[in-house]
Amino acid sequence: MSALPASLPQAQPPTVKLLIGGEFVESTSTEWRDVVNPATQEVLARVPFATVAEVDAAVAAAQKAFVTWRKTAIGTRARIFLKYQQLIREHMAELAALLTAEQGKTLADAEGDVFRGLEVVEHAAAIGNLQLGELANNVAGGVDTYTVLQPLGVCAGITPFNFPAMIPLWMFPMAIACGNTFVLKPSEQDPMVTMRLVELALQAGIPAGVLNVVHGGETVVNALCDHADIKAISFVGSTRVGTHVYQRATLAGKRAQCMMGAKNHAVVLPDANKEQTLNALAGAAFGAAGQRCMAVSVAVLVGQAREWIPELVAKARTLQVGAGVEAGTDVGPVVSRAARQRVEGLIERGIADGAKLELDGRQVQVRNYQEGNFIGPTIFSGVKPGQAVYDQEVFGPVLALASAETLDEAIAFVNANPNGNGVALFTQSGAAARKFQEDIDVGQVGINVPIPVPVPLFSFSGSRASKLGDLGPYGKQVVLFYTQTKTITERWFDDASVSSGVNTTISL
Ligand code: NAD
Repeated sequence: MSALPASLPQAQPPTVKLLIGGEFVESTSTEWRDVVNPATQEVLARVPFATVAEVDAAVAAAQKAFVTWRKTAIGTRARIFLKYQQLIREHMAELAALLTAEQGKTLADAEGDVFRGLEVVEHAAAIGNLQLGELANNVAGGVDTYTVLQPLGVCAGITPFNFPAMIPLWMFPMAIACGNTFVLKPSEQDPMVTMRLVELALQAGIPAGVLNVVHGGETVVNALCDHADIKAISFVGSTRVGTHVYQRATLAGKRAQCMMGAKNHAVVLPDANKEQTLNALAGAAFGAAGQRCMAVSVAVLVGQAREWIPELVAKARTLQVGAGVEAGTDVGPVVSRAARQRVEGLIERGIADGAKLELDGRQVQVRNYQEGNFIGPTIFSGVKPGQAVYDQEVFGPVLALASAETLDEAIAFVNANPNGNGVALFTQSGAAARKFQEDIDVGQVGINVPIPVPVPLFSFSGSRASKLGDLGPYGKQVVLFYTQTKTITERWFDDASVSSGVNTTISL
């Protein structure tokens, strides 16, 4: 059975399947929710909230597959990901179209979402170079010490709605390439592109049981956190849920890495290239309708850069709000009616809290898509800590402008915010840039780069309240996360090195 039935008009929307032991199966659950196109409200599919028995079956399948997968030759594992990256490339347009239909972002941005995940798949194909141990010769006379990085067992991943291709691809390719088996729990809001990627992964040669998928919400996530046979959990999503997952999973003795919410600042110095900076701010604040964990949601304008507000507002006005499938759209809908209400509520609170509304996107009209969850670019100035629009992650196309007299004041302002996902500085001064990257307390820093998400040669390195756990997703750090370092200290005797008696000291 395929994960996604044919999309011809049908009386009932198709159902999204579970993947257990290599089979796409219909859930027996009585609890389902609709997957809805955010531009049209069309119901695209129905997704089950799996039963605990189904979660157990997925984990059991993964546990069984681990017995052989952990011993599979590294070249065999690597070649599956070589094939997988090729299949993703060949299906790029289809994947982007699915993603836009259920998530809302523009087709070009959807391709970017798939592409940033594809880069991790390419890196997984290099696992032979990444999962190497170390050896020290003669740590004592005739004694060598070496390490091997061994897979952990069954790992699980829980992913958010905003990057339904990239974030699942942050997780299962590297976990599986390291020799683990995996249970994925995609976002229940947009699981269809994730399932298509999972189908392609099986087509690339991932054996039955090595990758499994269950759908659902709190109950399924709690069952994964508690399950005795799961060794590690990767989570990406909101701070509230991520904190819960971290606490529950670590209490059950698991490794956990949780990438969570954000409030990303851009600091703008008056010597910055004005045109480039304003373009970067508008793109990073309003692209994907602000629903990126690395979206710029606060700009701190320093000194005379405060005079750039009218030009920034004028630039934001030029952005085209519309359905992601329409050519020329810059800003698509937010993911759901509930998300739209929440964002509009925060705009109202911003006004009530005394911030100055420079641009109001609430009444935006989109021809032919009256039902869509659209909010146009919105800008507040004079924003301060203590106002909801600053203190909360809005996760919509809303940019808050604050101001500072000096770079030092701007750095102190950013460092006082609890979040540490991303930050950017716009300047032409090397000295200012160096000071900024030294003193700013945020895990990912862009210098004239608004959204500094590292490529998989590095790892995603959010910090402070944006992250729980030491090691980040993808890259070198995740190889350590998904493996146990085993250290072997070894001596071989030959006739010439026979011991001269019992030694009760700690020396080798
Ligand atoms: P979310 O926390 O609502 O959902 C994430 C996952 O948790 C989903 O799979 C969901 O089904 C599950 N979940 C939801 N409620 C739960 C509960 N009560 N108990 C257990 N599990 C639950 O997040 P979202 O709205 O899908 O995604 C947006 C959030 O994700 C934003 O805060 C954004 O900043 C964050 N995010 C962070 C990063 C990062 O790398 N730091 C990347 C992308 C998104």
